Amino acid sequence: MEAKISSKQGLKTATKVWKECLKIIKENVPNITYNTWFLPIKPAELNDGVLKVEVPNSFFIEWIEEHYNTLINKTINQVLGENGKLVYVIVKEDDTLDLFDDVQPLKPSVISSEQKPEEEHETFLNPKYRFDNFIKGEGNQLARAAAIAVSENPGETSFNPLFIYGGVGLGKTHLIQAIGNKIVNESKKKKVIYLSADIFTVEFVEAIQNNTVNEFSNFYKSMDVLIIDDIQFLIGKEKTQDLFFHIFNTLHQAGKQIVLSSDKPPKDLNGLNERLISRFQWGLTTDIQPPDFETRIAILNNKAKSYGISLSNEILEYIAYNITTNIRELEGCLIKLLANASLSSAEINFELVKKTVKEIATVRETNISIDYINKVVCEYFGVDENKVREKNRKKEVVIARQVAMYLSKKLTRSSLKTIGLHFGGRDHSTVIHAYNNIDRLIEEDPSLKESIDTIRNKIELGV
Ligand code: ADP
Ligand code: MG
Repeated sequence: MEAKISSKQGLKTATKVWKECLKIIKENVPNITYNTWFLPIKPAELNDGVLKVEVPNSFFIEWIEEHYNTLINKTINQVLGENGKLVYVIVKEDDTLDLFDDVQPLKPSVISSEQKPEEEHETFLNPKYRFDNFIKGEGNQLARAAAIAVSENPGETSFNPLFIYGGVGLGKTHLIQAIGNKIVNESKKKKVIYLSADIFTVEFVEAIQNNTVNEFSNFYKSMDVLIIDDIQFLIGKEKTQDLFFHIFNTLHQAGKQIVLSSDKPPKDLNGLNERLISRFQWGLTTDIQPPDFETRIAILNNKAKSYGISLSNEILEYIAYNITTNIRELEGCLIKLLANASLSSAEINFELVKKTVKEIATVRETNISIDYINKVVCEYFGVDENKVREKNRKKEVVIARQVAMYLSKKLTRSSLKTIGLHFGGRDHSTVIHAYNNIDRLIEEDPSLKESIDTIRNKIELGV
């Protein structure tokens, strides 16, 4: 009873204190900054001079600390005295989207270290990845539906393992973590763990060094739900694969759920043990494709709302039209837009949007060189880079050369002539021929298309 009263009183003073702070902040920052970054902050609690406030996501904290730390500290000291402190907690966003009627918003709840349910192990799940803020689109429909089914009956559907693959920044991590978060939220008893395959490998190596391989293996075997991201990192790591194979079998036999993600389908994971590949295909394998125009708009709209701003249709369409390959880049554009608006204290208008989109596109284009593209392509096809520049007619060299030319045309602003020069002084008609040839082959041969997507992701990631 007492606790209740004091927390109520705490809330009241927290509100008052924060109001005073806002007053000071408002006088010291541009309006747009105030509205974007400070207004969405909600006071939560005041205890011993520590003001706890709720922010919509970690980006807020990073942004404010980077740009307004001094102002915040000064303000807090002014209002709460020299020992006053501000602590941020992240609140799950309640981002209802009228565009999607089957999306169920979660009740907002505060995630902070004190309020976490007691559990024996860390799940490593990021609470920001949920189904209610994952926008459904044609490209992710099946993956999303399967993920939801698995989260509702972990280990009890035929989707075991659930294997989701697709290019960079398309939502694999979001989706597989959403499964974990849903299960944990619904039943505190379920032991869920999320980690990427490279962390798994690092931990395994440590376990070998510390002589704790058994404990390590038993720990993972004791899970109800094991979620491993980017399983392609196991490629070439045979010992880790062996151990993972045993963990997989134990869990699968016990009816425990396994969820995996990868940049390619199981059958293309060259360098992964066949017995693992065959097990990965036991359940459901499904891909995520890049989002279409409408989905890109919906994602942008949703994200903008979570930052507390609303953008006009014209602006949303412009961004969605110009940034097409990757959702991470869409988000990056939005963040950059907010940053630009906030720094120059400008309104978010069409001019600013154009400038921001251009900045992002320029970064992408100027940073990719033809030689770099050639290097990544040759690595992929296992061909010597120099052979591509020589007059070599071997089939694999010809394909590598044509793919490299094709991607140079797609990913740089270089002229056909310049591209030709980079490939042993070939003329522009050779480049056109290569481009057209690959363009046609992609239509006929899905595995070539997949290879090129993979290479493209590698190139764009490596920049
Ligand atoms: P991947 O693991 O496939 O590289 P991520 O899951 O990390 O991609 O997604 C990149 C970013 O895009 C994340 O911030 C994620 O929340 C967001 N995102 C991806 N797909 C969607 C979607 N369908 N709806 C909303 N946000 C998405
Ligand atoms: Mg990922």
